[in-house]
Amino acid sequence: MAGVYIHIPFCYKRCNYCDFHSSTATGIISNMIDSMVIEMDLRQNYLNDREIKTVYFGGGTPSLLSKYELSKLIDALHKNFRIAPTAEITMEMNPDDVKENYIKDIINLGFNRLSLGIQSFDDSVLKYMNRRHNSIASIHSCDIIRNAGISNISIDLIYGIPEKDFDYWKGTMDFALKLKVPHISAYCLSIEEGTRFDGWKKEGKLFEIEDEEMYLQYDYMCKLLQSSEYKHYEVSNFSIEGKHSQHNSAYWSNEEYIGIGPSAHSYNSIGRQWNVASNVKYIDLINKRQAFFEEETLLAGNKYDEYIMTRLRTSKGIDILELEKYMGLQYRQYFEKKINNPNFESYIERFGSIYRLNETGFWFMDGIINHLTYIK
Ligand code: SF4
Repeated sequence: MAGVYIHIPFCYKRCNYCDFHSSTATGIISNMIDSMVIEMDLRQNYLNDREIKTVYFGGGTPSLLSKYELSKLIDALHKNFRIAPTAEITMEMNPDDVKENYIKDIINLGFNRLSLGIQSFDDSVLKYMNRRHNSIASIHSCDIIRNAGISNISIDLIYGIPEKDFDYWKGTMDFALKLKVPHISAYCLSIEEGTRFDGWKKEGKLFEIEDEEMYLQYDYMCKLLQSSEYKHYEVSNFSIEGKHSQHNSAYWSNEEYIGIGPSAHSYNSIGRQWNVASNVKYIDLINKRQAFFEEETLLAGNKYDEYIMTRLRTSKGIDILELEKYMGLQYRQYFEKKINNPNFESYIERFGSIYRLNETGFWFMDGIINHLTYIK
């Protein structure tokens, strides 16, 4: 199994919390598409002709591309990679871009899963985040998508919003459940360096909510979604049976993938590559056929760390027999020695050879993983 990630590095405006690579200079979209088509051609052998089971258009805002621009990328994908007829093909969408004709067009191009960046159902919060859409668009977008023919819908939400209390989040979750989507991703707001929120925080204009309050919101969400038949299958992701993100699950299962476009990452078991995170430089380097990415070869310690970091994110956890098969007895013993720590007892569940984090363990995941990794 292998996947392709396509990074569309443009947005009409920047959200105040976002540190993803994207630019509002949309005048070069056409050049960018041409360069990404060339990149696919240049790197068609990266995955050794393995069948592609998942394709993910992320960003940025893929839904600001026209049908024509998307079709150029889809054509290049099929020309250079062996895409499985049943492949999951996802596009991230801004709710503002959800229009019946556009959805029909992208269905014709092969998209069969949509991920909506809803984030909030409160207009004042959307404005505070500098989001482009409003709550009406959020509420109607799922119906429009379903009526046009796609039922595999995911929505993104953010909790831990400054000055928004538990009742706000409770209301958000109530609304989310009413949409009856099969997949919900919910991220805890973190203030990233260089964002407008970061600037406001440094100026004393933004105060993050307390950790305890943040945890209460997380805990409420976990309990509510599980009682509503959503499975908490990854630290920030919940789905009804069978509707997990196949693409992201492949990342967390160590599957290989290629990332196309500025800032995109690739992994092929031997090493990792990451493309330059600048639209102008990317286009220029591609056109000159010069190196547009950096790379590293993974050593045994790196491979073990990646294995631990990705597997523990999920409800499947780590099977020590599989770990031993993959990394050898030495790494299994290292893992067992580290994880059998009395401090972790209330965060970890064990079923036979499987260790996995419980709900509280997910919340403290970063600290636990930090203790388990090999390369410090
Ligand atoms: S639309 Fe998405 S990628 Fe663009 S600025 Fe907002 S959060 Fe970031």
